[in-house]
Amino acid sequence: MLSSKSLLSLSLLAPLIGVGNAALFTDPRDLPKTKYDFIVIGGLQLSYIAVAGTAGNVVANRLSEDSTKTVLVVEAGLNDAGIQAIEIPFLDSGPTGTSVDWNYTTVPQPGLNNRILDVPRGFALGGSSDLNSMIWTQGSEDLFNSYAEVTEDPSWSWDAIQPFWKRVSTLVPSTDNPYLPPPPANNPTLSNGDGPIQVNLPNFPTDIDFRVINGSKELEEAGTGFNQESAGGGQRSSSSTAYLRPIINSRPNLDVLIQTRAMKLTETYNGTFTSVEVAQSIDGPLTVLNATSEIILSAGSIGSSQILLLSGIGPKDELEAMGVPSKIDLPGVGKNLVDHPVILTIYQVSSNSTFDDILRNTTLFQKTLTLWEEERKGLFSTIPSNVIGFMKIPELEGEKDPSTGAKSANTEFLFTNGFFGAQVPTEGHFLTLAVALVSPKSKGSLTLKSPENGTFTEPSIDYGLLSDEWDLEALMQGLRDSETFLNATPWTQPSPEPYIIEPVGDWATARNGTAKDREDFIRNNMVTVFHPIGTARMSSGSPSDPLGVTDARLRVRGVKGLRVIDASVFPTIPECHLQAPVYTIAERGVQMIKDDFGMA
Ligand SMILES: Cc1cc2nc3c(=O)[nH]c(=O)nc-3n(C[C@H](O)[C@H](O)[C@H](O)COP(=O)(O)OP(=O)(O)OC[C@H]3O[C@@H](n4cnc5c(N)ncnc54)[C@H](O)[C@@H]3O)c2cc1C
Repeated sequence: MLSSKSLLSLSLLAPLIGVGNAALFTDPRDLPKTKYDFIVIGGLQLSYIAVAGTAGNVVANRLSEDSTKTVLVVEAGLNDAGIQAIEIPFLDSGPTGTSVDWNYTTVPQPGLNNRILDVPRGFALGGSSDLNSMIWTQGSEDLFNSYAEVTEDPSWSWDAIQPFWKRVSTLVPSTDNPYLPPPPANNPTLSNGDGPIQVNLPNFPTDIDFRVINGSKELEEAGTGFNQESAGGGQRSSSSTAYLRPIINSRPNLDVLIQTRAMKLTETYNGTFTSVEVAQSIDGPLTVLNATSEIILSAGSIGSSQILLLSGIGPKDELEAMGVPSKIDLPGVGKNLVDHPVILTIYQVSSNSTFDDILRNTTLFQKTLTLWEEERKGLFSTIPSNVIGFMKIPELEGEKDPSTGAKSANTEFLFTNGFFGAQVPTEGHFLTLAVALVSPKSKGSLTLKSPENGTFTEPSIDYGLLSDEWDLEALMQGLRDSETFLNATPWTQPSPEPYIIEPVGDWATARNGTAKDREDFIRNNMVTVFHPIGTARMSSGSPSDPLGVTDARLRVRGVKGLRVIDASVFPTIPECHLQAPVYTIAERGVQMIKDDFGMA
């Protein structure tokens, strides 16, 4: 979402392809074999075949720890090594809209006056962990306990999940921030394990950090704190840098195939789907790869359900109407698609210590970039938002709170020390307060637009945004709460003049207008946080819950040899940023595979 792209030189994005190591392949015909134990798609393995991406690389890493198993990772996207726009924390989602993004879009959203929204997804070895904004939030106790309830499997509960959470990340020191208080001891939501993802508190201080923290002390309902970021030593720590690249050269049982799409899974015998057809272009040759043990789909909430549907695994009637022969009738595939809505409110401020000057001044930008290049310090070593807050909202019109419990939030505030939007104005200094709805009720679905050209054809992505009235009311409340928040002393007290001068853009009109103006502001400006989930959601299999796709061990229902391990298995959307819960379910899921196959 950050507007620094215009200042990015092309070299920041130039993908590095062909790194000259034996285990990373760019052509399926070069693979040493076509049969693996596991194939990870978005990460492909051959005892196991898997797809790369955030979750897929976790799966590939942990499975290939057993040297007796062969693993192939299949990744559609590019090698992500050496791409500065990915590495620099401050540019966080700078790579969106480029060659390392799938660049999907939604269908027109009626709730948003038929606007079409961007759906960025990582098209690179680290999947969306290469594109994301690096905010690191674990998810609440209530959230994981609700997963245990939905699946009727206590191993998904908060207590049971802790060992897997601890396998994911390690808290490392910030590079350039002398003002940070010491992290609170024994806080279970703070990165507190010994895993490969590096997590730090903000690397570089900004002018608003303590205004937010001190302001929240005046308001009973507000819980704010410093962000944790998936970064270490001043640069992005991704699923690729942490889980995959360190082992590509050292594990002879692991092969990684990039720039190659899984097109569909094929039935090897009755109900067993352990073969995958892959291709590098629409009209290129199809290669068939086989997993002797399992295929693990980790192609994300868009990719995994698309591959299932193209394979004939999904709602029978829908598939047959499209001309796709139905193999397994699973009505829930593609359903339950949910994302977090977010609306940006922007204010002009009296400070001249925002990052706006750096973004609009090429000399300052270059100086800041040089500091990062030489020392991994300065503004570019941190993400644009150092501080975050979560809120509960009062129950609206007697409606039940849709979050997973009292310890889960409804709204989130993200504070940015500058203009966080399409184009930084040529003058002025700004504060952006993003108000997100983290417990939305609206749901949509993913369907095939056409089976023609397989995964080279974009699927139809419908988030159904604001299809449930509660979401609009909750966002309206979120906006009111944000105004209350910015009425606290640190924002209004003259020193010598108040920090906040005035709202700008459409928010100025809405804030000073009627309730209808506010509703229009939301419908005309709302976007999403890029957190799609749920298209292959796990369930207990109870007849009262007919739309479950995966069971509690993440196996696709009614199918042998196939699991889904990625954000599509979440039964409900986590009331937080998704990557940490995705890594956690990946660690949990791959342990299930190991247990099922008697692996160490
Ligand atoms: C711009 C952006 C900002 C975000 N910001 C944050 C944030 O600040 N904090 C946070 O916690 N979360 C954030 N997220 C969300 C988070 O990154 C994702 O939820 C998470 O990474 C999803 O992981 P996944 O494994 O489900 O899918 P992905 O990481 O998307 O992996 C799927 C992989 O499968 C590959 N693939 C797909 N289809 C095929 C195919 N047919 N053949 C072969 N390969 C295929 C893809 O190329 C990709 O590598 C953000 C996401 C985006 C896009």
